[in-house]
Amino acid sequence: MMAEKLVLFDIDGTLLSAGRAARESVLAALSEVYGWKHANGNSHDFSGKTDPQIVRELVEKDVGRGRCEELLELALERYLEEFSRRLTPEAVVAKPGAVELVGALAETPGVSLGLLTGNLERGARMKLQPLSLNPRFPFGAFGSDSEDRYLLPAIAVERARAHCGREFAGKDVVVVGDSIHDVLCGRSLGVRSVAVATGPTTADRLAEQGPDVLLASFAEVGAAMEAILG
Ligand SMILES: [Mg+2]
Repeated sequence: MMAEKLVLFDIDGTLLSAGRAARESVLAALSEVYGWKHANGNSHDFSGKTDPQIVRELVEKDVGRGRCEELLELALERYLEEFSRRLTPEAVVAKPGAVELVGALAETPGVSLGLLTGNLERGARMKLQPLSLNPRFPFGAFGSDSEDRYLLPAIAVERARAHCGREFAGKDVVVVGDSIHDVLCGRSLGVRSVAVATGPTTADRLAEQGPDVLLASFAEVGAAMEAILG
């Protein structure tokens, strides 16, 4: 019998693209809450980072650590409000094969699915909603659990234990994502890492981080299933 597997998916660049609504919402919230306006907000690399980390990276240097900290909760709340207004269902585009892959994994005996994402949980759920993917992911670890992406895999594994009533460890945990941080963040737990080059990070750059498997996309669902389940 195949070992039980816990498969943890990143969202942006991995399952879907949500267009520019998230970036625009962050910038609007930062402008309102901190009075912060900078051109580099349009080019700053958000990939593989948590939402609180993105806010800090953008504003801390300009507004100071104390003020950044003091208003962080408010900024994140305003971001979510902006995002719920700006995100249209049509803006959410599934990556090729992603919905089919998640469906096939969810139907596979012994496979449990969770999220591992820097999004605040409410933002994550908003992005997955138009693709009807929320029921596939009953638990996860989010940017609302920790600002440090590298602490999230352990949180996800603990949630999986609570939800599924079993332990997952080592290569029975699979982290699937499009950024170098997705590849690196599970390393301390010795997880299986599957990188997919459907986000802003090139396949070459992902390959440099030594994932267990590197996929161009999930377009070939059968091959992606094999890559993930090993
Ligand atoms: Mg991503």
